[in-house]
Amino acid sequence: MKLVIFGPPSAGKGTQAQKLAQRYGIPQVATGDLLRKAVAEKTPLGLKVKEYLDKGKLGPDDLIVKVISERVSKPDCKKGYILDGFPRTMGQAKALDKMTEVDLVMNIVVDLDELVERAVGRRTCLKCGAVYHVKFNPPMNEGICENCGLKLIQRDDDKEDTVRNRLKVYHEQTAPLIEYYRQKGKLVDIVGGGGIEVVFAQMVKAISQIKQRASPGHGGL
Ligand code: ADP
Ligand code: ZN
Repeated sequence: MKLVIFGPPSAGKGTQAQKLAQRYGIPQVATGDLLRKAVAEKTPLGLKVKEYLDKGKLGPDDLIVKVISERVSKPDCKKGYILDGFPRTMGQAKALDKMTEVDLVMNIVVDLDELVERAVGRRTCLKCGAVYHVKFNPPMNEGICENCGLKLIQRDDDKEDTVRNRLKVYHEQTAPLIEYYRQKGKLVDIVGGGGIEVVFAQMVKAISQIKQRASPGHGGL
């Protein structure tokens, strides 16, 4: 099962992708996490993409496509995966078409003001990629990751200015992909304004519908 989670920055893609990964036993492939990790570790890739991330810009398509295609060819992706933060441009979507056929694209829809509030309050674990929110989803111990006990950080690109810039980039370059996938019949809209569990329930329902379609009477994909 190959899923794409779509939506503007801080709509809840990572949060939902992590829950889906647990539920269905397939990995979350989070472009942002892969890139931020490369930056933190100062790998050759990290050095190339750092300036883009810092400004809230998208990295060059060829580089991002390479990162993703390497990641999804690892053994843990054999049964499927959840793409979170990819594709973000039409060029990336076309490259993905050449790589594989995705089963479902879930488009999380959230109001602008809510997006800014979510981004500014977001706290992230650099080690495991877990996401929290100071108000909407606080960790058990303030500022500490529940999975690995490490100190949570506020991402550099979660400052309000950068957030607004990322939202602008989203509307220019990524939002057009919604129509692209809608026309292919792959897209389902998810109302993202509710709580985390409410959003998750919509996704589980959408997935069970495509599973039924894929093999009526069987386990599905
Ligand atoms: P994305 O991956 O789309 O950028 P995240 O999953 O990191 O978004 O979520 C952005 C922020 O909003 C995080 O701080 C997260 O804890 C919080 N969040 C996610 N989903 C919800 C929700 N349904 N209601 C309130 N806050 C949410
Ligand atoms: Zn962690």
